[in-house]
Amino acid sequence: MASVREKLLTWFDREGRDLPWRRTRDPYAIWVSEVMLQQTRVETVIPYYERFLSSFPTLKALAEADEDAVLSHWSGLGYYRRARLLHRGVREVVAEYGSAVPEDAEARRGLPGIGRYTAGAIGSIAFDKEEPVVDGNVSRVLSRLFRIDTPLGANETTKRLWNEAARLVLGERPGDLNQALMELGATVCTPTSPRCQACPLSTDCRALAHDEVASLPIKPARKAPKQVELAAVVATRGRGADRMVWLIKGDQPLFGGLWGVPMAHGDPRAALRQAGLQARLRIAPIGQVDHVLTHRHLRIDVFVASAAKCTASKNGQLFTPQSLQQVGVSTLTHKILQCANVR
Ligand code: SF4
Repeated sequence: MASVREKLLTWFDREGRDLPWRRTRDPYAIWVSEVMLQQTRVETVIPYYERFLSSFPTLKALAEADEDAVLSHWSGLGYYRRARLLHRGVREVVAEYGSAVPEDAEARRGLPGIGRYTAGAIGSIAFDKEEPVVDGNVSRVLSRLFRIDTPLGANETTKRLWNEAARLVLGERPGDLNQALMELGATVCTPTSPRCQACPLSTDCRALAHDEVASLPIKPARKAPKQVELAAVVATRGRGADRMVWLIKGDQPLFGGLWGVPMAHGDPRAALRQAGLQARLRIAPIGQVDHVLTHRHLRIDVFVASAAKCTASKNGQLFTPQSLQQVGVSTLTHKILQCANVR
């Protein structure tokens, strides 16, 4: 009788989606795809991945790029820290490992932004190493397959999941085996309506045998997202097509490293002060923007100000609508600019 491993590989060969990063064994390209796929849907990632690799086709090309160029290719994907860590990581590979992603698992795990999951994905897919991966999809499949009834995130659950994944990956085609597990979680063993009748593991699945598919995996207790009230100031100079907007960089805790409008908790004057910007503020907000991050709900009052006379600001710079396209600007900043009619 076929083993779980064999069933997974046969199913993956037949049903696995043809995705751009599945057509390569280049560890750099796999690294980029894995970082982009964290917290982000496959359909969203595909155009970003293709654009990113066409601008930075090699690890060296990315290492030599400046941060603004890298972030501008990430603009809209969110979780910008991932991009900065990827950039730092490839620079370290150039400096320390002669521009070749290390085959040694320990060395890979020591790179900025590479945790156990990303290291395992690169190791198994690019280097054919028997290294496990456990992400959200794999956790769900393994929890159901082995009927793991302790909450996700608990130490004992994490340990058990990694042990099961490490056991399964041993053998031929470890990269495909890992991808098969991830694919099964993404397309068949989905969170709310798993298609058990189409699953290659239905006769092995202990949750299915015990009628516990709907209750597994056990979710961790979630904290309610924190509500945060902010004031953002869109300070502009000029009119019509010549209108320029002040953006600042570096001192915004929520989006450090990206360009954004000055913001502060509740008070637009504090936002201008912190940015070192002298501008005539219109006292009433012109609108409100809601933005949801993983652990925070942001409610932002948007103010406008005229910065006609201001020529310099701490960390700040004037941008034309065209020059805005060249730098990393978060989705939130786009929303705020749109609210103020600056695009
Ligand atoms: S049988 Fe159902 S619950 Fe079990 S692994 Fe397959 S899809 Fe998931």
